[in-house]
Amino acid sequence: MQEELYNAEKYQMIGQLAASISHEIRNPLTTTRGFLQMMGKPNINTEALERYRAHAIEGIEHANAIITDYLNYAKPSIEDARPIDVKAEINALIPWISPLSVMSTIEIKIIHEQEASCYIMGEPKKFQQCLLNLIKNAIEAMPGGGVLTITTRVDQANVYIQIADTGIGMNKLQLKRIGMPFFTTKEKGTGLGLMVVVSLVKVMGGQIVFNSKTGKGTICEIRYALYG
Ligand code: ADP
Ligand code: MG
Repeated sequence: MQEELYNAEKYQMIGQLAASISHEIRNPLTTTRGFLQMMGKPNINTEALERYRAHAIEGIEHANAIITDYLNYAKPSIEDARPIDVKAEINALIPWISPLSVMSTIEIKIIHEQEASCYIMGEPKKFQQCLLNLIKNAIEAMPGGGVLTITTRVDQANVYIQIADTGIGMNKLQLKRIGMPFFTTKEKGTGLGLMVVVSLVKVMGGQIVFNSKTGKGTICEIRYALYG
């Protein structure tokens, strides 16, 4: 199954998106207000108080996640383009991956098929943000553990970065929907992560493709033009 993501332009309508974002943020805020009100009730026991407090914080965190993802999307320009050493940048991500995978046993493999350094043009922070979003999704797809493989390879013109997981995978319908605002199958998902990834890959002149099989796993491949 293969689905190329080309929907980004459609969602450049920031204004329209802002309206739906406001709506999405209102939900967790309303819940939070409800829990805060309940905390003010007389004779409330400490156990309930603690539970309401935790829910209130969760609601605020969810609203915050939506805002963060949206702001990243609303400003997808490249302001500080410079050559990025792809292998070095990926190796630098390793310390950030482990804390994401503490909840399950995940083996992390990094394979650079070529020995020499390879470069692409872009903004290193945004490149990292892209990869981390994809890596986070890969890890979240393997709640029972699995293998996360990040592979880089080059040909004459391009660099290819693959992020593969052995997780739950996606069916055809899910594959079609990924990258659309608010499409999420997760209880605490925002459904904005891939929308941001798609727009960031695009502004860097790259392409992104997903391959997935239910129950087997997902491979995401990003392609960028080689620099130099
Ligand atoms: P979120 O992670 O907040 O749900 P994303 O935009 O990052 O939002 O992803 C949208 C949806 O795409 C996820 O909820 C999940 O259903 C699906 N998805 C993305 N990456 C993977 C993956 N590696 N394996 C399985 N499903 C995935
Ligand atoms: Mg995500």
